[in-house]
Amino acid sequence: GTSLNGTWAEAWIRECAGVIAEHRAELNTLDRAIGDGDHGENMDRGFQAVVLKLDALPSGSTPGEVLKLVATTLISTVGGASGPLFGTAFLKAAIAVSGADTLHAAATVALLTAARDGIVLRGKAQVGDKTMIDAWTPAVDAAIDSQHAGESVVTLLERAADAAATGALATEPLVAHKGRASYLGERAIGHRDPGAESTTLLLRAAAETAAR
Ligand code: ADP
Ligand code: MG
Ligand code: MG
Repeated sequence: GTSLNGTWAEAWIRECAGVIAEHRAELNTLDRAIGDGDHGENMDRGFQAVVLKLDALPSGSTPGEVLKLVATTLISTVGGASGPLFGTAFLKAAIAVSGADTLHAAATVALLTAARDGIVLRGKAQVGDKTMIDAWTPAVDAAIDSQHAGESVVTLLERAADAAATGALATEPLVAHKGRASYLGERAIGHRDPGAESTTLLLRAAAETAAR
């Protein structure tokens, strides 16, 4: 079966760069409706920089080492709110799995939980505030349920990605309480949060690379 090792982590992040590039315009469009229109651009700039750094990473790196590189690169290259938020997510995730060569279900849950907790620590958003947390928290909850059910790590990541997608969709009717969209009041209603959508793309990439 699939093993969530350093090779997987690198494949996951390269897949993230690919899907973010593919969805760059769509993420900009979501952000144009309730923000300043740069979310796709910000994420694409960050992940393109990450890919260049990955090319120089020694083979045999652990998942934690890959995630640490993602964190430092996103923090230094992505402007805006999402850079420090995703940067902190990957940094906390790296710390949570540091030393592990292969991530089993418990470590995968620890990775996702630490990422979400890092975003909350940094941005103070709660579920329902119409932010990326509305995708991350259902994803973490689904991963925990999956771990308790004794499912494979592939299924665990698929369920996390599905829950993130549902969570992102559920941001549409909400008023925002954090970030630029919070300035719009009721005018934010009817629009999906871009950070919740990009979170879904990253988690879908995790599941798809694990299933390969
Ligand atoms: P900016 O708003 O600075 O242009 P981006 O457009 O790259 O940055 O990112 C916007 C996304 O950041 C939002 O869609 C939302 O998901 C997320 N975000 C903003 N503020 C917060 C926060 N306090 N907590 C969690 N996520 C946030
Ligand atoms: Mg923006
Ligand atoms: Mg901006």
